[in-house]
Amino acid sequence: MSHILPINSLQETSQPVPLIDLVEQYGTIRDEIQEAVQRVFESQAFVLGDEVAQFEQQVAEYCDSKYAIGCASGSDALLLALMALDLKEGDEVITTPYSFFATASAITRAGGTPVFIDIDPDSYNLDVNQIESAITRRTRAIMPVHLFGQCADMEPIWRLATQYGLAIVEDAAQAIGASYRGRKAGVLGTAGCFSFFPTKNLGGAGDGGLVTTDDKDIAARLKRLRVHGDVGGYTHVDIGINSRLDALQAAVLSVKLRHLDSWSDGRRENANRYNELFEEYGLAERVGTPEESTGKHHVYNQFTIRVEDGNRDEILKRLRARQVGCSIYYPKPLHLQECFSYLNYKSGDFPQAERAAAGTIALPIFAELGAERQRIVVQNLQQVVAELDQESSTSVRKAA
Ligand SMILES: *Cc1c(COP(=O)(O)O)cnc(C)c1O
Repeated sequence: MSHILPINSLQETSQPVPLIDLVEQYGTIRDEIQEAVQRVFESQAFVLGDEVAQFEQQVAEYCDSKYAIGCASGSDALLLALMALDLKEGDEVITTPYSFFATASAITRAGGTPVFIDIDPDSYNLDVNQIESAITRRTRAIMPVHLFGQCADMEPIWRLATQYGLAIVEDAAQAIGASYRGRKAGVLGTAGCFSFFPTKNLGGAGDGGLVTTDDKDIAARLKRLRVHGDVGGYTHVDIGINSRLDALQAAVLSVKLRHLDSWSDGRRENANRYNELFEEYGLAERVGTPEESTGKHHVYNQFTIRVEDGNRDEILKRLRARQVGCSIYYPKPLHLQECFSYLNYKSGDFPQAERAAAGTIALPIFAELGAERQRIVVQNLQQVVAELDQESSTSVRKAA
């Protein structure tokens, strides 16, 4: 139960560690960004246009996809991808209940019905063994989420999609640059959806999103759907939406894309260092750390640990009080959200998703974090865990 504290106890005045610091990263690319922004202002061309076309080309090359279609957000990328599949009312899309809300709401916004299955407890991604039994006559697509920056298990998904004639829509919002057996997230299905929300690994100066695909017809549809289905001259062949990528975002993202791989490497180094530090501070047995499975290149949009003694919220509170940035992704699984009550799921339906929602904490992992601040995070975590152990053993003794 009790852990031996190392001699080097934390100094009173350790610096605060933010969960993410975008200011620091901006400092390293300020000139490049300023130049790009200036260029857009001089052109006064703010929506789509050359900047967006060039950025789309760059992402297509980066992911090795034939087409890339920018849009206004990751949420819209998911919606547009499902609209491009021509989802009909009552069509079912199999996905995970342990994700950001937009994963499931995109399905309902496109007129379909989300069908949840539980997650694999090690990767937090879809438990691929549960997909087949969830397939019905109405199933149109499988929507894996590459959660926290690691790809879902695609091989079984490919097999089932082929066998049952289903589309695959990847929610790759957290996984740009991640890969599965040497292929990048975004080219592992029918369509890949990305978000450029500022805290994603490739973050813009506001909202932005993009869909990748190798399918010519889907690409053409996506290009129409993001401009109200207009094929030119106010002739509308689809009922689309207004969801375009701004030139400013594209210009900023083009600059940042050049640095993406080095930032991802930084996140991976930080992840390795956390594992070493957890060993050093006697936390390795106590805390579950993310696993990178064979054939997968993890880009750690989040570094999520498990702290399961029913005291996750207390650990979070005390870490925050010690000025260690941390957060919960996600505290309430999607099948238990009020707005999805009409789907008739209940507590207990997806034990692994519920367990993850109740027992995980995301720690700082941004590329510029560095060894010194990581040590502060781990020292604080160790002390909080030791405090709680002590309190619980005292209360056990009192009760006895
Ligand atoms: C961020 C995110 C989205 C939505 O992206 P936005 O750009 O914020 O609309 C969708 N799915 C997942 C898993 C995400 O993390």
